[in-house]
Amino acid sequence: MPNPVFLLVLAVAFAAFSFSAQRLYRFLRIGHDEIRWNDLGRRSWNLFSIGIGQRKILRDPVAGPLHALVFWGFVVLTAGSVEILVHGAMPAFSLERVLPPAMHGLFILSQEAFAVFVLVAVSVLLYRRIVVKPARLQGDNVHSGDAILILSMIAGLMVTLILMSAFDRIVSPRFPVVVQPVSAPVAMALSWVSPAVATAARDANWWAHALLLLVFLNYLPYSKHLHVIVSLPNTFLSNTSGPGPIGAMKPMDLEAETEQFGAADVMHLSWKNLLDGYSCTECGRCTSVCPANLTGKPLSPRKIVINTRERLAEVAPSIVGGTDVVAQPLFGDVAPEAQPGRRLTDTFITEEELWACTSCRACVHECPVSIDQLEIINELRRGLVLTESRFPEEVQPAFESMERNGSPWAFKPADRANWAEGLDIPTMAELAGRGIRPDVLFWVGCMGSFDDRAKKVTVAFARILQASGVHFAILGQEESCHGDPARRMGNEYLYQMLARQAIETLNGYGVTTVVTSCPHCFHQIGKEFPQLGGHFEVIHHSEFLARLLAEDKVPLDSEEGRHLTIAFHDSCYLGRYNDVYEAPREAIRRSLPVVSLAEPARTRDRGLCCGAGGGRMFMEERTGKRINVERTEELLATGADELAVACPFCLTMISDGARALGSEVPVQDIAEVVASRLRA
Ligand code: SF4
Ligand code: SF4
Repeated sequence: MPNPVFLLVLAVAFAAFSFSAQRLYRFLRIGHDEIRWNDLGRRSWNLFSIGIGQRKILRDPVAGPLHALVFWGFVVLTAGSVEILVHGAMPAFSLERVLPPAMHGLFILSQEAFAVFVLVAVSVLLYRRIVVKPARLQGDNVHSGDAILILSMIAGLMVTLILMSAFDRIVSPRFPVVVQPVSAPVAMALSWVSPAVATAARDANWWAHALLLLVFLNYLPYSKHLHVIVSLPNTFLSNTSGPGPIGAMKPMDLEAETEQFGAADVMHLSWKNLLDGYSCTECGRCTSVCPANLTGKPLSPRKIVINTRERLAEVAPSIVGGTDVVAQPLFGDVAPEAQPGRRLTDTFITEEELWACTSCRACVHECPVSIDQLEIINELRRGLVLTESRFPEEVQPAFESMERNGSPWAFKPADRANWAEGLDIPTMAELAGRGIRPDVLFWVGCMGSFDDRAKKVTVAFARILQASGVHFAILGQEESCHGDPARRMGNEYLYQMLARQAIETLNGYGVTTVVTSCPHCFHQIGKEFPQLGGHFEVIHHSEFLARLLAEDKVPLDSEEGRHLTIAFHDSCYLGRYNDVYEAPREAIRRSLPVVSLAEPARTRDRGLCCGAGGGRMFMEERTGKRINVERTEELLATGADELAVACPFCLTMISDGARALGSEVPVQDIAEVVASRLRA
């Protein structure tokens, strides 16, 4: 016989939840469309490994296992919660009657075990929030009160669950102690309670548990803990770990009929960017690894995501209209209506924050629920530059020079291949004139062509290629900037103009394979040119060198030389963007037989940016500590004899950092390390 009172409670609770869910869905729809249903295999893998397996969370040795435990506990306990609700509505239903005894015993055991795990984990997390207060969980617009309330509710759910089982055991002890290792001792401790009181206490705990569950469910849509519901779908729908090229900026149709290119407000972002806002747990992992934030700049990727959610909550009700007016006050401290002149850029997120980003992807890589903070930053930068022509004034010369000279610096295009004078390196044009096509094109890049220090790396790499018998050529004066710095600084017009030119040049010579010593060229030509129809196999020089050395093609000096300790600095565009970590280390190890590699405190996928990416190379660093100095300090702290890099931008930044710190430790590119051992 159904329980009409509980049925009514359930109906009200689910009607309220469905109202809130629909409301959130309608809010998302104010973002523009984006397809996130492709490559279901890859998406399922991300869901399985990052979402269910908690791969990213578990990288944090303290809070990681606790959070993972709470998550897994929730999954297991959800089955029990469903049984409790169904049993409440239809008392005749019980899993005990449906499942075979052994399986039901396992089910009870899993509920008991996870109830205790979750209770312990939640207690520790509450202690951390209230007493320890780690820096990562403070600041920005973090909703600490909300977190404490939610954690307390979870603790309440676990306590009522255990007490319900314990009192039920006093009333009717029908399960062996082994499947009730928690409630059995509690029941024993409460054995003085009379059966009548135990029955009342069991029912009271059942009601408390069921009502708390329904309150919890209905509170979630208005809490930052909405992630409990949306983090798994968000992980499935995210592109941050694929599908598609990792780190590639969104394609942009510059012919589109719109007055707004890029974003200035939430309606210019995609629904997925807005879902990111719902999914943020406010854990602060992103901000704790952000080089800008670490060195005192006013940028916090967590704040960017929270601001996006707050602005959506502020403006969406007036856009979707209708019944939503009822729910507006539930947002508490957020202004209930969209006031004229308010928007995401400027009102919530300042220009200074946006331009502080080095596009290092550390935040994206760290986020346990696969949020793409950088995509929001990039879209807002595009909005500033393309629609409002707002950018730091020191960027103007770089834009102008890229347009006029095909390089961010005001060098003459005719001087691009001056570094190659006397080296007998053919250009593509010369070889084409003789009807020859080389095996690879060496794409030198603007830094490698014009910067005096980087030119030495270019020469070193070219010498290795020649000594190893690689049949290669360069574009010489025909090479031009591919536009990546312009794209990262929001100037998509300039980027597309330069990139299309470069693609035309490469296609004109039928180039299929490109090797480059610059990770930015490597990423741009290999991962982002396909958006404009340019398809080339691009190999970074670290991989090319590692391969040549492994195949014994590089003629090295037979003397072993002195023992060196080298600390290698991972470039963001090589590592986090392209997952190349081992090749540069391998190149060093294979060329220096008696070398030791020292790893700085932050290394590989957690390596700290040098501070040059995202166009920061062309901007002044006026606030806080210089990022390159912070990174160089970390590298020098290893006590290494030499520092090695695999990027011309990193070379400049780390060399400058060493100079600023008065260090004499040499900074070299890996090509120079290898070339130093070339047989005379
Ligand atoms: S990409 Fe790097 S610099 Fe930019 S917000 Fe993320 S962590 Fe900070
Ligand atoms: S964006 Fe991701 S890493 Fe950053 S606070 Fe939110 S959930 Fe944590």
